[in-house]
Amino acid sequence: MDNVWGFVFVCYRGFDMSTEFKKNQIKRFISLNRAIYIFMILTVFLSRITELMDNSILMLYYVALILLVLSLDRFVFFRRVKLLDQEAEFPGTLFRVRTCIYIILFSVGGVIDIIPPALVVCIYMCIMYILIQDAIFCEVFDIVNNCLVISIMLFISGIMLFFIQYRKLVNGIWINGYAPPLVVVIIVCNLLYLIFDWIIRYMEERNKKLLFENEEIAEENKKLTLFREKVEKVNSEINYQKIELTKANDDLAESNLETRTLINVMKFFSTSFDIEKNAQVMVENVMELKDARIVGIYISENVYMNENPYIEIKAENDTSFKLLENDITDIYKMVVELGSFEPVVLCENHEFKYKFLTGGNICNAVAFPAFEDKDIYGVMVVASGKYDFFINGYSFYESAVMDFTSALISDRLYLKTEEMAKKDGLTKVYNRVYFNQFYHELKKNVLESGDALTVVMLDIDHFKNVNDTYGHLAGDEVIKMVGAVDNKYAELHQGTAVRFGGEEFLLILRNTGLSEAYDILKEMHDEITSTVVEFEDMKIKINISMGVSSYKETCDDIDALVDRADQALYYSKTHGRGMIVIDGREEESSS
Ligand code: GH3
Ligand code: MG
Ligand code: MG
Repeated sequence: MDNVWGFVFVCYRGFDMSTEFKKNQIKRFISLNRAIYIFMILTVFLSRITELMDNSILMLYYVALILLVLSLDRFVFFRRVKLLDQEAEFPGTLFRVRTCIYIILFSVGGVIDIIPPALVVCIYMCIMYILIQDAIFCEVFDIVNNCLVISIMLFISGIMLFFIQYRKLVNGIWINGYAPPLVVVIIVCNLLYLIFDWIIRYMEERNKKLLFENEEIAEENKKLTLFREKVEKVNSEINYQKIELTKANDDLAESNLETRTLINVMKFFSTSFDIEKNAQVMVENVMELKDARIVGIYISENVYMNENPYIEIKAENDTSFKLLENDITDIYKMVVELGSFEPVVLCENHEFKYKFLTGGNICNAVAFPAFEDKDIYGVMVVASGKYDFFINGYSFYESAVMDFTSALISDRLYLKTEEMAKKDGLTKVYNRVYFNQFYHELKKNVLESGDALTVVMLDIDHFKNVNDTYGHLAGDEVIKMVGAVDNKYAELHQGTAVRFGGEEFLLILRNTGLSEAYDILKEMHDEITSTVVEFEDMKIKINISMGVSSYKETCDDIDALVDRADQALYYSKTHGRGMIVIDGREEESSS
């Protein structure tokens, strides 16, 4: 029903609706119109079949007329749709002309034959239908004007029908009988039109209100949609922030764990002066915390008085361990060559130069240079099979290496000071202060273990003469030479060399019996006496006396061992010097 009113509004008032809506309504109206015309044709056929109409030509005339109207209307309405598309005005005069032509054509049917009264009513209804169409479409929205047109057209058509039908009786009484119904029809028709107009106005008002409300609702909906979009956006932002926050929390927890590990490692460093143990603890902690596949550290020689490079590695398996052990020296050399203090990625651009990378299924490996001042003294290698292993950066590893370096520097200082306190400045062999400490411990150990212990005392013969002849500096060189030889033999035989006094030295040999010691001493004596000390342009040769005492072979009182060696030495001094004298066997000694 709403659709029927819809097209009436569209056509009658040009109601403010979308072009698409108007077009749809006109198309519906065309369909309805077509159905009404087809119904008219069927009525004409039916009246002929029932012999209400006895003239076939009259029937054909009306059928042809309705078909003509049908096709003309098709043209008029399609033109209307087309004009709507172009947003152009529909010409009302075209409609008025059409209405006049249709009504005249319908009225003059009676020329052909007499039309029975029932058909006259039908034709009149058709005329009324056409007039209503005209009132709707002509777009002259003036009630008076429309009523006038309706009245005139009905009157003219009525008169025409009457005269054509009853042309033979014009002068008869029929005119009195025909005029009043015609007037009634005109009045009824106008009344119908007015009612129709009133209904349309009422509906239009109501629809306008509805439209207004609809517009308000649409506006409200638009606002709601905007609000919903905003809420959705805020929601997604909150969700994103939640994810970010969770990630930040995780990162914080990991960073806390890293800091705790670094603190624990630092705590260990502060209680230990053992640099190698420090390296071991650091490597273990990094491996455990980060769940790495391999962690290794390389420290080059002479960093902390170490004669050889030191390597400490922790790996998931033996193969990885051995592979990194082979590669780590080259990695250190490469880092030194680069001169980089920044971490060096070892498998960048899918280049796997080192065997430990391919052999250990590593896809992520970084070398962290360990440097002191501007000197790269070592490298820490961390490797993993995970691609995102270093996603949080390198700071943890760099901090670990730097902590290790600062511990190393202070430990080395401590060791150096300790070494300096223990050793004699001129000869670099242990001094008498240190001897007093360690010899006490040594005696206890030897007593407990029952090992042999041999003490040798050496003294340069007529050293005063060296000083007097060549000067003190030359004398120093001679003392250094004797100290170096003493130290050499001590190291060779796991013993200890000590500078006991001015030009007096000790050689302490643990686990070495008298005869073995005697052979060593002979060799050592030969080396000292045959060595020529060159100082400036002077060449100095010296002789040396040695006294030997061995626990328990020559002396069963361990506390008297040094004195007994001294006594044996004294024998050499008093019997021509240059001798190796065995405690208690002085008579057997020879130079
Ligand atoms: P002897 O054969 O009896 O041992 O005679 P000697 O001259 O070697 O013995 P003496 O103990 O009389 O002399 C030792 C000298 O060594 C005395 C001292 O001036 C000197 N001397 C001690 N320490 C040093 C040192 O560090 N450098 C130098 N150049 N001389 C030193
Ligand atoms: Mg001497
Ligand atoms: Mg002396």
